[in-house]
Order: sequence, then C-alpha cells, then structure tokens
Amino acid sequence: MVRHIAIIGGGIIGATAAFYLSYLQGNKDVQVTLFDDGHGQATKAASGIISPWLSKRRNKRWYALAKRGAELYPSLVKAAQLSDKAYRKTGTIVTRKAETDLLNLYHEALIKAEHTPAMGQVELLDSKTVQRRMPILTHAPAGVMVSGGARIDGADFVTELLKRAESNNVEVERERISVLPDGTIKSSSGVQKYDVVIVATGAWMRETLKPLGLDVKVRPQKGQLIDMTIHTAIKWDNMPVMMPESMSDIIPFNGGKLVVGATHENDEGFDLTPKAEARTELFNNAKAFIDTLSESQITGMRVGTRAYTDDFAPFFGSIPTMGSFLVGGGLGSSGLTTGPIIGYFLAQAALGNVTDDWNLYTKPISFYIS
Ligand SMILES: Cc1cc2nc3c(=O)[nH]c(=O)nc-3n(C[C@H](O)[C@H](O)[C@H](O)COP(=O)(O)OP(=O)(O)OC[C@H]3O[C@@H](n4cnc5c(N)ncnc54)[C@H](O)[C@@H]3O)c2cc1C
Repeated sequence: MVRHIAIIGGGIIGATAAFYLSYLQGNKDVQVTLFDDGHGQATKAASGIISPWLSKRRNKRWYALAKRGAELYPSLVKAAQLSDKAYRKTGTIVTRKAETDLLNLYHEALIKAEHTPAMGQVELLDSKTVQRRMPILTHAPAGVMVSGGARIDGADFVTELLKRAESNNVEVERERISVLPDGTIKSSSGVQKYDVVIVATGAWMRETLKPLGLDVKVRPQKGQLIDMTIHTAIKWDNMPVMMPESMSDIIPFNGGKLVVGATHENDEGFDLTPKAEARTELFNNAKAFIDTLSESQITGMRVGTRAYTDDFAPFFGSIPTMGSFLVGGGLGSSGLTTGPIIGYFLAQAALGNVTDDWNLYTKPISFYIS
C-alpha cells in the first residue's frame, strides 16, 4: 500500500526530508508532496558556515545535534550530488580578541578534535598566516583554523536538493496551504488526508498549527546580509571562511563573491525590508578586515525570517495528540547546521524507522508546543 506523506515548508528541514524520503525509499512505497510558498524563507536568504565545534554555546543537546548535523553534510552532499556552489569544505577560521581566549580556544579545539574526526586538522594561526590563507584580508587577526569547516549557500542548497527529490518523483507545489482542524490539508487542488504530515514551516509554525488547537512557542527574528562582488587578481577560489568574534562572518564564495552577515533583529516581526543601517553595519564590519572594500561592490541584500524558541534551541518530534504529525523547527541562527539532520530524522520517522534516541538532541515537544 502506498503511504502518502505531505511536507509543509521547503526550507532546509523540508527540502532535506523530501530528499531523504525519495532517496532512502527509492520511492516505491511512498508518495511525497512538498508544499512551500517560499515567502520570507530563512534558508534561501542565508549563506553560512558549518562549524559548530568551537561555538560558545553550552547547551549540550544543541551541541550533540549540531555535531551530528555537521557530520551528516558530506554524505548528504554526495548522495544528492550537490555542487560546490551549494556546499564546500573550505575550512573555518575562528578568532578571539584576547590572546588568552585564543589559546584556550585552540586547546579546547585540540581536545575536541581527538574524538571528532569531522573537525579535521586544527591549527593555531598567527595573523600573517591567516592573511596568506585568506589573501583578501588586509587586517588579518590571529585565529584557530579547523579544516573540516564548510560554507553553504542556503538558496543553492535547497534548490539543488529539491531538484534531486523531484527527479525521484517527489511532487513540489509552490503554494501556501492550510491545515484544517481535522488534520487534513487544504491546497489549491482541494482537501486531502495524508498518512504522515511533516511540518517544517519555520517562523510560521505557530500559524500553521493553530487550527489544530495548538500553541507553538516560536517567534520571528529578522536576518539580513550583504552580497558583494570583488574583481581582483587575488587567488580567490576555495578560500576559508572567517568567524570573527562578535562581528559579522566573512564568507568568500568562488568567482569573487563575498557574503557578509548576518544581523539579528528581534523587534521587526516578519518585515522583509532591507535596511540601510544593516547594510552600513555589515559593510563596516567587513571593512575592518578588508580596507580595500568599497560600497559600490555591494550587489544586493538578502532578508529572511528565522524562528526562535524560548530556550534558543531547535526542536523536533511527533505531536502527542496528533500522531501522524511530525514537526521540526526553532532553528535560530544555526539552522543551516542543525536543519539537515532534523530533516533526516523526520524522514526516517515518516518511514517508520526511528533508531536514534531523540532525547539526546531535543527537549520533549511539549516544551515548545502546548
Ligand atoms: C540572513 C540569514 C543568515 C543566516 N546565516 C546562518 C548561518 O550562517 N549559519 C546557520 O547555521 N544558519 C543561518 N541562518 C539561519 C538558518 O537559515 C535558518 O535557521 C534555517 O534556514 C531555517 O530553516 P527552516 O527549514 O526551519 O525554515 P525556513 O527556511 O524559513 O523554511 C520554512 C518555509 O515554510 C514556508 N511556509 C510557511 N508556512 C507555509 C504554509 N502554510 N504553506 C506552505 N509553505 C509555508 C515558508 O514560506 C518557508 O519557505 C541564517 C538566517 C538568515 C535569515
């Protein structure tokens, strides 16, 4: 018997779940339909860094999830045959302002790397060496380089993943749908009941699940970044990415593309207007390290809405009162790292294969949904 599965939301969780459902099952026994309207999507607005190992966060579940997420990437990229534009392991340079903090970070990294093969090689780099590895920098700080770190373009990543899923027979419907109080789904083609529904609607999850009488404790946060194009003779391709302490990330993509981001605005709701102050702040953050930049090199701004929870942690699981509904969200500012592993877990659950202990990675769903 064919099992009908709906995915609502085509950001990083929904797209990864769609891909794994088509890949793990070979689409023999499941028919998957993904609905996404794309408006305000955080994933397609984001370019980011996959390197959770040296984060200052001390939430153990978050770290376990982010670590698994970073480890999943190479196999996901290989299985879905994603391009270098979408994901590339370039290495990450993490900086600290105070020398003692940098040394502490280096020692912490060495200890973690012993039992975290995905981190690759760990090096303590003086500013001259950082400048050699990232020749665009004119004022390079010292830093810790982790060779297993990677950069990702959210828009390319989900576009390529969904293309691959579609070629494996997943249907992708570009529209906003509603969940009805009885758990059916109303789309432009009518009302349909699904055996399993995966809800991955990011900052919009409160609205999605309201008709079921549920209250989801997620709130929106606006994020903005700038895209720049730099024409220079410098060897640019596959440059590492830099995470300067308390400043914007510097993310070089091949072909002279530079992304600087991102902002975190908690008081602007779902607003998607790019703001001049954000553009200036991001540009000045980048200029502190690359004094040759000019504002004329800014080619655009991207704006998206992240979803935050009260404890700043992502969540996933099934809804106790609605067993056929699986949810994943609240990814916050590290969603590019944690999103794919959540999509993988949800796809496995939709196929009836839960082998991992989810309590290691998320608090119970009742903490986030009442
Ligand atoms: C500017 C910016 C920079 C970022 N940088 C980083 C970074 O460097 N590293 C990192 O790890 N993370 C980063 N993030 C965070 C990360 O992008 C998000 O946490 C993650 O992409 C969220 O994924 P998601 O699948 O949960 O939600 P989303 O990507 O928001 O996807 C949800 C989708 O559901 C759709 N939807 C909602 N309701 C419905 C409905 N009723 N019917 C149909 N579709 C619906 C929405 O339109 C949207 O397309 C950044 C985010 C932003 C905005």
